[in-house]
Amino acid sequence: MLQNPGRPGDSVATMTLPGAGGGATPDHRWGPTRRYDRWAEVTRREAVTPTGTVRISAQVTDERPFEFMPGQFVAIELEVPGLGFRHNPYCLLTGSSEERTFDLLVRVVGDGSLSQHVSALRIGDPIGFRSPYGRSMVPKEDGTELVLLATGVGVGPFHCLARYLRDSGDDRPVHLYWGLRLADDICLTDELEELAESHPNFNYDISLSQPPPGWPGLSGRLTESVPPRLETLGGKHFYLCGNGAMIEDLSSALSDLGVEKRLIHTEAYFNARHRSAPETVAAIRDRFVATDLFSPFTDQQGGWFERGMRALEK
Ligand SMILES: Cc1cc2nc3c(=O)[nH]c(=O)nc-3n(C[C@H](O)[C@H](O)[C@H](O)COP(=O)(O)OP(=O)(O)OC[C@H]3O[C@@H](n4cnc5c(N)ncnc54)[C@H](O)[C@@H]3O)c2cc1C
Repeated sequence: MLQNPGRPGDSVATMTLPGAGGGATPDHRWGPTRRYDRWAEVTRREAVTPTGTVRISAQVTDERPFEFMPGQFVAIELEVPGLGFRHNPYCLLTGSSEERTFDLLVRVVGDGSLSQHVSALRIGDPIGFRSPYGRSMVPKEDGTELVLLATGVGVGPFHCLARYLRDSGDDRPVHLYWGLRLADDICLTDELEELAESHPNFNYDISLSQPPPGWPGLSGRLTESVPPRLETLGGKHFYLCGNGAMIEDLSSALSDLGVEKRLIHTEAYFNARHRSAPETVAAIRDRFVATDLFSPFTDQQGGWFERGMRALEK
């Protein structure tokens, strides 16, 4: 059995990172004491893109069970000498309850922020964490189609969900739309291809907002590339994860077009307080081709709502 490599008071070495400006600036989010009492150890670290995305694999080293469902996250707590303790949630990319292992996909952002320290962990480093928690993404109804909309590392829980569905013999249609900026941001393609081959109804599209010449995939932000591709909106669960701006804009448009709120599931990693501008949502609504749900916006030109409003204005 593995020995617990970390105890309260153990620290992770300060890491000087390329592009990090050589150190971190303390802020109120760094605290003086450890808050979490679970432990894992880094077993693998891989930079999966040249643009700052890192995959961290870990083995739980305390004595407690490690149970989780797709969509759940662990809160990772690190101690950095001179700064103190800080924690952030990270969704599980993969994991095994039996082997008590997990993988995280971490985007390195900010100057001296926690993601820089998480992504610079080395094999053998201890990680303090709090149990997997949060909502499961596994839908309760059988058979409903899933439309998964991710930006950046928001793809992590969808990867976990699609694998879970495949492994449990659930062959409902699942379509992942993954929005990234550059071709260099693309990763996990081997795993996605393997999923597409082994799950009879799993498909995925990558949409680049800054595609290189000749890019064969989708182009544009998800708010631009996805609406024209969804022929119907009924009978589907929509899951949105990643940038809170994409989530708020797209989920507002879906809701306007008649998708019930209970069928829209969201997890904002950042920009969680974004409020959509009405004109932005209107522009996204206009790009949707689906007209199968009852909504005041379904027929912008001749719908009952528009006609009623025009009649009132006369
Ligand atoms: C439920 C939940 C699950 C999450 N799961 C993951 C995960 O699996 N992988 C992961 O990398 N992050 C995930 N996050 C985000 C993570 O918790 C941190 O917020 C992130 O690592 C940035 O923290 P920081 O301290 O490094 O930077 P901060 O100082 O908190 O942020 C620095 C700046 O970067 C921006 N920012 C934060 N995240 C991103 C991003 N992904 N892309 C672009 N800009 C960003 C912030 O808005 C801010 O302006 C999750 C967040 C939540 C709420």
